[in-house]
Amino acid sequence: MSSTRPRLATAWLGGCSGCHMSFLDLDERLFDLAAAADVLFSPVVDAKTIPPEIDITLIEGAVANEDNLELLKHLRERSRFLIAFGDCAVTGNVTALRNLAGGPMLVLARSYRDESNLQPQIPTELPVIPPLVDRVVPIHQVVQVDFHMPGCPPHPDLIWYCVTELLAGRVPNLTGKWKFG
Ligand code: SF4
Repeated sequence: MSSTRPRLATAWLGGCSGCHMSFLDLDERLFDLAAAADVLFSPVVDAKTIPPEIDITLIEGAVANEDNLELLKHLRERSRFLIAFGDCAVTGNVTALRNLAGGPMLVLARSYRDESNLQPQIPTELPVIPPLVDRVVPIHQVVQVDFHMPGCPPHPDLIWYCVTELLAGRVPNLTGKWKFG
């Protein structure tokens, strides 16, 4: 860990936010976490800039669009330990079902234009949507991952165990502590 207080980050890529809901289900342990470390970048603290150095980063969700790709690479560069946080980050899971549905343009057309014939008319009038990657992938297919924390979502006890072990300078032993789904 760095000489200053440990720095934590979390990020939400292509996921449903359920893993972050489980993080919030740490409940009173969030006070213990705030006493032990600084959460500098996360949807739950609404930070706008990525700090230059992070000790532990939890990544929820798969890589589904260009923004996900860019954010993941930035966080990897700046993080000492990067954790695939939940099944979507670990395997692609629900987010990767898009891969089975004919590709991003067909999914966009169906989702936003309600076109039953599924003709791939590119919805250029939707600039708020970042360009979708052709194929959704789990994060380890883009960057090196230090720990995989499966679960849909991971149980708060597992999140707590993994984060506090790292904060204590120990390597979390996740054997037998996790399950998919
Ligand atoms: S792993 Fe489950 S809870 Fe987490 S983002 Fe994916 S679908 Fe949501």
